[in-house]
Amino acid sequence: MSTVVKGKKNKAASAPKGVLELAIEACHDLHYGHLVEGSVRGSRKPVSWFFYASKPYTPGAVILGRLLEEKRRGLYRAEPSKEFADPEALDRQVRAFFRAIPKTEIHLHFEGCIRKETFLEMARRNPKSAIRTAQDVERLFTFHNLGEFIRAFVNLQDAMTELADFERLFEDLAVYLKKNHIVYAEIFFAISKFVQKGFTYPAMLETLSRCIRNLERSEGTRVRLLIDVSRTFGAENAKANLARVLESPNDLVLGIGLGGDEKAGPAGLFKETFRKAVKAGLHVVAHAGEDVGPESVWSALKDLGAERLGHGMAAIEDEKLMADLAKRRTPIELCLTSNVFTGRYTRTLDSHPAQVFHPKGLNLTVNSDDPTFFKTDLSQELWAFHRHLHFSIADILTFVENGALATFHPERKVLWKLMSAEIAKLRRQYPLVIV
Ligand SMILES: [Zn+2]
Repeated sequence: MSTVVKGKKNKAASAPKGVLELAIEACHDLHYGHLVEGSVRGSRKPVSWFFYASKPYTPGAVILGRLLEEKRRGLYRAEPSKEFADPEALDRQVRAFFRAIPKTEIHLHFEGCIRKETFLEMARRNPKSAIRTAQDVERLFTFHNLGEFIRAFVNLQDAMTELADFERLFEDLAVYLKKNHIVYAEIFFAISKFVQKGFTYPAMLETLSRCIRNLERSEGTRVRLLIDVSRTFGAENAKANLARVLESPNDLVLGIGLGGDEKAGPAGLFKETFRKAVKAGLHVVAHAGEDVGPESVWSALKDLGAERLGHGMAAIEDEKLMADLAKRRTPIELCLTSNVFTGRYTRTLDSHPAQVFHPKGLNLTVNSDDPTFFKTDLSQELWAFHRHLHFSIADILTFVENGALATFHPERKVLWKLMSAEIAKLRRQYPLVIV
């Protein structure tokens, strides 16, 4: 349980007028983990809030979150208690804790983990490529809209010309997984573009399977694949992709996904392909509600039978959908930084709909989507839930648990048991992290 930091009361500085709805009468340092006592303006009843003990969506915690912001910006003065004389110490511990805990990731694209050095090496092999220097790569990876993002992605796929490139990308993926202590990942492998370029599905799968098995043997890290049949190239292409999957059965391929252009390829077009996949015993997932409204999410659920939803942001516009998702416990694969970039449902990390989803009982999981492209990683995403959305550590650990239990790992409960035992041990190493 929580540790309340107590100390002698002191007259707090007055909050800037009009900024806060709270008149603080006495408080300790307004840093995470501290007790704040005060009263709500207009009410005589004294109240006290404890930042971690409060749910982020209760008014107390939200106000505290704001106070914390004001304090960081120097607008609010509060005396630090000696336990937290270094106000950054707790932040550093929380970040280190998030990095250290074992995690799973269920919304991660194969190409999304490439190191920029790898990309530069591959691009340089092609005399026609405009990418010649590290600065060129940096420029390409600095994008401000979806069009520029797609240009970078296509550039990367163009640079891949031989099967050994899949091994290079997998090595970068392995580095990413290790750095974030991801013990199990289900990654999207979108094959359409590569098939168009002349790679055959069995050859790509053979290469990746070898990499996956080697990683499992050497590090114990498990990677499994979801073949993205793609919305972008139409229903016939998706059907052909499923046929490729079914013709070359592989126990590392757990199912299919539907990614790509949500506006151009409504889920209903892929009903037949998904019905066949389910019949063949494959798992099915879909990106939905990322760039199109709630109807896209409904369709992914009803037409495709999606077991998990990539992003699902559009649910914020539809109370009935949120209630339905909560009832079904459909895992929602949230990717905060990516969602801000897409910008359809949130423009800032601080205003992400996760704040609304969580109290309504949606099954939230934390993911990174395309970490290199979005300059993030999974540990950083967990931190963003805490830092920007003021979720407690306990809530974030619930999201980590949701993620593990939302995998298609045949022993996912055992997986979570092992992970939670490791997390419990780690908590002793990070005494400032209060759960
Ligand atoms: Zn995605």
